[in-house]
Amino acid sequence: MLVSAKEMLTKAKAGKYAVGQFNINNLEWTKAILQTAEELKSPVILGVSEGAGKYMCGYTTVVGMVNGMIKELGITVPVALHLDHGSYEGAKKCIEAGFSSVMFDGSHYPIEENIEKTKELVGICNELGLSLEAEVGAIGGEEDGVIGAGECADPEECKMIADLGVTMLAAGIGNIHGKYPENWAGLSFDTLDAIQQLTGDMPLVLHGGTGIPADMIKKAISLGVSKINVNTECQLAFAAATREYIEAGKDLQGKGFDPRKILAPGVEAIKATVKEKMELFGSVGKA
Ligand SMILES: [Zn+2]
Repeated sequence: MLVSAKEMLTKAKAGKYAVGQFNINNLEWTKAILQTAEELKSPVILGVSEGAGKYMCGYTTVVGMVNGMIKELGITVPVALHLDHGSYEGAKKCIEAGFSSVMFDGSHYPIEENIEKTKELVGICNELGLSLEAEVGAIGGEEDGVIGAGECADPEECKMIADLGVTMLAAGIGNIHGKYPENWAGLSFDTLDAIQQLTGDMPLVLHGGTGIPADMIKKAISLGVSKINVNTECQLAFAAATREYIEAGKDLQGKGFDPRKILAPGVEAIKATVKEKMELFGSVGKA
């Protein structure tokens, strides 16, 4: 059964570790992440972007697939199914379809409008027992086709949004989606520290977890980050493993053309990436 991310993140914040959000794209992705979480006894959050939701035929299909897998793979660790960077309409659709958690990304709205819309969703999510993530300060990199530098959120605005009763808060602290450029300035720990001082127990979310050095991840966790989003890294691992299989001509040997065989190395690569992240985040054995 899907659960809200509230309990797992409250525990993570108190225990000074982070729960990984791993984005899914299809059945293989989902299975690889769920099996790794179960094997490592780690709580896990499955992230679904609006684009990925569309790709998988819509949110109802996603909910059906994930619920079916939890049952048939015998998954016992807490699993939250979470909309990643949702629009206001997207969040409502996911709530209706049976997601256990949603992110409303109102960071591109003026702060008053972000507050207004977040407040309404807080009411709906509280009533249904779902977790809600809000965002303040746009996260850099490619988000909805727009490439920006890593912005730093205003800690006062973070407090305003946190006070609305959201479950977790994503704040830009110089992090970027996708691959980090060579001249990246790194995370702004001063900003993170100021946000934590003002938001207290609120679990903070670090987006753009791909390619942030391990020591920065650990420092971010020590300053209140309890959810870390990983997406690009699984994609890169999957693509590299698939490329290797094809370039080695394995699809041309015997029944190597069987889709289950072609996709297998990529699945193993996702599992290895997820395992490495769960170990780094400290969530292993916390389920
Ligand atoms: Zn993000």
